[in-house]
Amino acid sequence: MIKFQGKGVYGAVAVGKISVFKRQDVQVKRLKIEDTEAELARLESAKEKAIVQLGEIYEKALKEVGEANAQIFEIHMMMVEDDDYNEAITEMIQSQSVNAEYAVAVTADNFAEMFSSMEDSYMQARAADVKDISNRILACMLDSENKQSVSDEKVIICADDLAPSETVSLDKEKVLAFVTAHGSSNSHTAILARNMNIPAIIGVGEQFLTQIKDGDMAIADGFTGELIISPDEETMAAAKQKLEAEAEKKALLQKLKGKENVTLDGTRINIYANIGSVDNIGAVLLNDAGGIGLFRSEFLYLENNDYPTEEEQFKVYKRVLESMATKKVIIRTLDIGADKQADYFNLDKEENPALGLRAIRLCLTRPEIFKVQLRALYRASVYGKLGIMFPMITSVSELEEILALCEQVKSELDADNIEYSDSIELGIMIETPAAAIISDKLAQMVDFFSVGTNDLTQYTLACDRQNPHIERFCDTHHEAILRLIEMSAENAHKHGAWIGICGELAADTALTEAFLRMGIDELSVSPSFVLKVRDAVRKTDLSK
Ligand code: PEP
Ligand code: MG
Repeated sequence: MIKFQGKGVYGAVAVGKISVFKRQDVQVKRLKIEDTEAELARLESAKEKAIVQLGEIYEKALKEVGEANAQIFEIHMMMVEDDDYNEAITEMIQSQSVNAEYAVAVTADNFAEMFSSMEDSYMQARAADVKDISNRILACMLDSENKQSVSDEKVIICADDLAPSETVSLDKEKVLAFVTAHGSSNSHTAILARNMNIPAIIGVGEQFLTQIKDGDMAIADGFTGELIISPDEETMAAAKQKLEAEAEKKALLQKLKGKENVTLDGTRINIYANIGSVDNIGAVLLNDAGGIGLFRSEFLYLENNDYPTEEEQFKVYKRVLESMATKKVIIRTLDIGADKQADYFNLDKEENPALGLRAIRLCLTRPEIFKVQLRALYRASVYGKLGIMFPMITSVSELEEILALCEQVKSELDADNIEYSDSIELGIMIETPAAAIISDKLAQMVDFFSVGTNDLTQYTLACDRQNPHIERFCDTHHEAILRLIEMSAENAHKHGAWIGICGELAADTALTEAFLRMGIDELSVSPSFVLKVRDAVRKTDLSK
């Protein structure tokens, strides 16, 4: 048994045989040519062929992964026609009298290198796209087709990397999983795998390809990012159990997709999903969540080595809002500190970090960082239905300060003639006993509350959520917590605000009925729990 560790980009498990992806490498030689016009004509006709092929791939992707994800192939078509790219190729053919294949290959390398050296991870991932389209043009010139034949049985495809078009061109019915040595979770290949609902692991490391061969039995675990070759009996039994659990979940999904979140006596509730990255949107849609109840924006900061700029943040928020179309998206402002640390913030070491300079306290201490995020959020608001919520609130004065900063940001945007939506909902997280106790006052200042039960439990029961030794003292069903939630719900409704729960407790179906009886308006859970909670809601009868 050999184990390799990568990064799971789509959570599902596959058990089956390995098929190593064989790419027909296009061999390009530098040739001196006489007739540059004829060479340019060859290039043009190869590009035309490539565009026809990309059109076909686009249609296939449209059916399999939906419009938003198929768009990459429209972008590929545009890249084939891109002026800078074409000028570089043409110029090389004309000035150096070289063959078109060579000019395409060199230009592809140059552009890929340029993209790779950019700071923005989204742009870095475009290096793979320019290589992909260039290989297609080359294949069209050399008349070879880059098609992988997959065996008759379903297999786990292992490759150094997969181009987006290679991913989509594979027969989905024959693919159990994708495993690649390289790749980034931002790459379109990863996004496509996720949207094709195929378990995928990336970044397993170069050496894995030298230690596997066609036909090896393997387990690809997209949850843990583990690839296990020739598993022993015990490991295989555990994987089969996971597969069965997944099959059960899938059956539930089929049954409940498209159904309403309504109790037997007709009470409705919103069930939204919690995410930490745009990469999770596929799972949100797949599980039929009504919206995003918590986007943990701090992951944007944790993934970077420096503060994400307004532009970088704007792009991410815009993408989430556009992907969710008319569905609500609630983005939580930066919740860093305590267990979530990024070196570049240069925070002092604290005796009790959970009680320290975290979340909103940090944002109010460093308003220049906070305002960058608020500007990005307000700018993105025109692309969908945005709610902004603030973590770790304990007092009215904090909320006053926050609301004043929001007004400042709006005035600055007005002065710059930059549009923002006038229907953004503003809310706070109820994560501290203090916030719950003064929720009558706070409710008058916001549109909604979202109860963060993970922290509310920690602060109410004085139980460090990071400490595994005190788990038995950390009763998440403790009456004190439930009373604080109930009190917050009553106060929210008394003052015209709505209330949701976005901590882990929202997915605890033993409490679904209690939450419904408290009048909770929304439960926001991990995407894979949406249907489980819908099931519990639909089985509840509040008339009894
Ligand atoms: C919570 O505290 O319940 C919550 C949702 O926030 P986080 O888990 O990110 O602290
Ligand atoms: Mg919290």
